[in-house]
Amino acid sequence: LPKLWYRESERITSLLGNLRPKYLNEYIGQQEFKQVLKIAIQAACAREEALDHLLLYGPPGLGKTTIALIVGQELGVHCHIVTAPALERPRDIIGILLSLKPNEILFIDEIHRLNHITEEFLYTAMEDFRIDLTIGKGKVTRTHSISISPFTLIGATTKVGSLSSPLFDRFGFVQRLDLYNLNDLCRIVERTATLLALKLEQNAILEVAQRSRGTPRIANRLLRRIRDIISIDRNLNFVSMELVNEALSLLQVDSQGLDSSDRRLLQFLLEVYNGGPVGLDTLAAGLGEDPLTIESVIEPFLLQVGFLKRTHRGRVVTKDGCKHLGWY
Ligand code: ADP
Repeated sequence: LPKLWYRESERITSLLGNLRPKYLNEYIGQQEFKQVLKIAIQAACAREEALDHLLLYGPPGLGKTTIALIVGQELGVHCHIVTAPALERPRDIIGILLSLKPNEILFIDEIHRLNHITEEFLYTAMEDFRIDLTIGKGKVTRTHSISISPFTLIGATTKVGSLSSPLFDRFGFVQRLDLYNLNDLCRIVERTATLLALKLEQNAILEVAQRSRGTPRIANRLLRRIRDIISIDRNLNFVSMELVNEALSLLQVDSQGLDSSDRRLLQFLLEVYNGGPVGLDTLAAGLGEDPLTIESVIEPFLLQVGFLKRTHRGRVVTKDGCKHLGWY
């Protein structure tokens, strides 16, 4: 049995690996950005040059890593993926920069978490494709410059405000990824369902899309849970809305797509501060969360569905937010 289970989970993992769109035309939504990117990719190909450095920011799960892999695929070059906390020592970043082949992509996730020294190596690397090494100590130090291949840095962050300006200024493109609208999410749900060999009724597709917090990664995660339920009851041919509802209530995702941390935030504002206004830091301290996580991960969706408002005096729960939590 364990062996079977292992094989099944391995099969699912490989299926999930294929969920990422490979080319730009498979990437759903973000139309204007795709247009700009397409032109830039064509120009870089024609000139046989590296694409300009690109900074992507926005809440997690909106497709930043996917974009980096797509750019690599479209340019026909390898995309190296690292997260900033893994670049601890100077030799980590130097090693990667020296190993890059012409026009390849270096994707750094959570780029706001780079340490100073690593960041400084990136300045000259990004601007002049050069690494400056300081050799020796005290009075006898000298700088030795090493050329590296032209490359494209793609940085991703949920906290663009935490980036230093010298780093920020070195990106040729800066793009915010917004939460997806319902129409695009329905297309993403349909696409993933097909890849997972799940047949969803039309209203079931809409239901999953509505409960995905505007986020493709959540849509995919919900579909995987639905798939778990289906694999228990193999007689099911079509996934109905009822089954979707059942699966999602197990996951504590409510009818509007709010999860437990969203509801906790609204509940806290209502119960302790009568709905607000409350400043971000007070809210963060009360919830025991990091202010930046609240601002960049939890709030965007609550603002999008209109349950929360940001005013100059702080956060306020809207009438719709009160109604949703049963306060009216
Ligand atoms: P991020 O790097 O922003 O956290 P990812 O690129 O890892 O997000 O995307 C999360 C998942 O959502 C991926 O597995 C991918 O399959 C899916 N996804 C993201 N954006 C899209 C899109 N525009 N179209 C289709 N699938 C998408």
